[in-house]
Amino acid sequence: RQSGGHRRLRHFQRSMLDDARERVQLVSELRRGIERGELRLFAQPIVDRHRRVLGEEGLIRWRSPERGLIPPDEFIPLAEQTGMIIEIGEWVLDQACRQLAVWARDPATQHLTLSVNLSERQLRERDFAEQVRDRMDHYGVPAGKLKFELTESVLNTDLDRTIRLLSLLRADGVLTSLDDFGTGYSSLSYLRQLPVQQLKIDQSFVDTVVDNAQTAAVITMIVQLGRAFGLHVVAEGVETEPQFQRLAELGVDAFQGFLFSKPRPISEV
Ligand code: C2E
Ligand code: CA
Ligand code: CA
Ligand code: CA
Repeated sequence: RQSGGHRRLRHFQRSMLDDARERVQLVSELRRGIERGELRLFAQPIVDRHRRVLGEEGLIRWRSPERGLIPPDEFIPLAEQTGMIIEIGEWVLDQACRQLAVWARDPATQHLTLSVNLSERQLRERDFAEQVRDRMDHYGVPAGKLKFELTESVLNTDLDRTIRLLSLLRADGVLTSLDDFGTGYSSLSYLRQLPVQQLKIDQSFVDTVVDNAQTAAVITMIVQLGRAFGLHVVAEGVETEPQFQRLAELGVDAFQGFLFSKPRPISEV
């Protein structure tokens, strides 16, 4: 028994070490990858109940020559810990503004919005609103087209500052969406004060909406909340026709998921 415990302990230490080494390796590869222009912006459409495309969500990928196409969950948390998220976020913002300016020149795409995911660290940058205005002016982005997606975690610190920042952005024609809505626990009390225009129902609710009456009740409540506050309600992670139909019945305004399209390079929009 003793030797078994000893072996387990040794195994535990070795995997921790590997982990730390792996993380250091990944951080340096990511740093180099950013310099070499290995980041890519993908996009996934958001459609209305008639499947008309209203806009797109920008989703970052890292195309590493050694590791292939890496999804954000595998490097964004690391980028947040090391502060590299600031640089990555600036790159995403720049790409998004440039893309919106391109879309604005074509009658077939000029109605499209583009949503960009923000990390809490980016919001805490002193000059964030100025940075956004600068990029919008630089490319000539029309008002009402750029949207930021924030998770409820950004509401945990300095709510007053966040409210002022979102109001400032709103005045510059930038919209805000609350991402993964329903998974946090503080949403309801903050909603009244927050200058947001959209709620994005988390995929975990969409997954079970067809056969779980309690899930349907939660979604109904979010839709009613949205109506009361004048917010656009979007469901993400829609994979099946029955999910789409049920969500539409429940009053959801817009839909996003593999049923309509997987994320693809934004240049293919
Ligand atoms: P998110 O903002 O909740 O994005 C939705 C995720 O669900 C995306 O994963 C998307 O590809 C995936 N998805 C969309 N439709 C479906 C579906 O029908 N079924 C399933 N199973 N999944 C679906 P992705 O692209 O891997 O992004 C993961 C997370 O990484 C995002 O979650 C977001 O939090 C973060 N992220 C992505 N791009 C950025 C970025 O530019 N900046 C920051 N800070 N975070 C980003
Ligand atoms: Ca999102
Ligand atoms: Ca989400
Ligand atoms: Ca998510």
